[in-house]
Amino acid sequence: MFFADTHTHTKFSSDSEANPLKMLAAAKAAGLSALCFTDHMDLDFPGDDTLFVFDTKEYFKELLPLKAQTSADKSMPELLLGIELGLRPGRPDLREQMDALLSAHSFDFVIGSTHVVDELDPYYQEYWDLPGDRLLRYFEDIRTNVAEHANFDSLGHLDYIIRYLPDSVSLVKDYTVRDYADLIEETLRTLISRGQALEINTAGLRKGLSFPHPKEEILLRYKELGGELLTLGSDAHTPADVGADIIRCAGLLKDLGFQYYAVYKERKPMMVKL
Ligand SMILES: [Zn+2]
Ligand SMILES: [Zn+2]
Repeated sequence: MFFADTHTHTKFSSDSEANPLKMLAAAKAAGLSALCFTDHMDLDFPGDDTLFVFDTKEYFKELLPLKAQTSADKSMPELLLGIELGLRPGRPDLREQMDALLSAHSFDFVIGSTHVVDELDPYYQEYWDLPGDRLLRYFEDIRTNVAEHANFDSLGHLDYIIRYLPDSVSLVKDYTVRDYADLIEETLRTLISRGQALEINTAGLRKGLSFPHPKEEILLRYKELGGELLTLGSDAHTPADVGADIIRCAGLLKDLGFQYYAVYKERKPMMVKL
């Protein structure tokens, strides 16, 4: 079967040192047919506006020859060149900059993710110290981000914030989609109506959770609402994680009744039978 990992990071992301060649070799060793790099582009990241930004010209200059090599050599997984955009609510200025970047380069795949809520990264405790239900704020912003940003192909790691819940807010066990169902449903409906995909991000399984992002309940709701476009990614930041749990999650999708997942090339979905 054709397996692809379409969410991975390389040294072009500030939180990865991965060598692109080694990532590709790892994809081959994992038996993948395609590998997509989706390096971080979070414009105006709070505190350090250059932190999660890379030079797209350099990226294509270095990686296009490698991509051409993989299209010529069928023994190699096909390399696809994507990007993971950090979406922000109420920032038409950033949206314009992102649109300009996407029209200046031929990306194969664009992931839209929410990494900042209320000007803080939920990875850090400070975020959880803010008043109110922090999960609710996160799902509200995702809903708004999806409503405001039409120029991405797949919504990244929908409920990954639960990985960062501090022990003092030990809701992980109690986290139920039901509490946020309306916001999540609105998000899913927008994606479906626009023909944008939902990502299954396998990283949760490596971080001690029993499910990928998003949780099965959300995947089932997506299906009930008529959603069919799904992408699969490990969010690997090192060669060791390339392809992690991709086959397992493809099996999960099949068990949930989905028939295909999508691999984007030149921003168009190629449907792969599960
Ligand atoms: Zn991300
Ligand atoms: Zn990522």
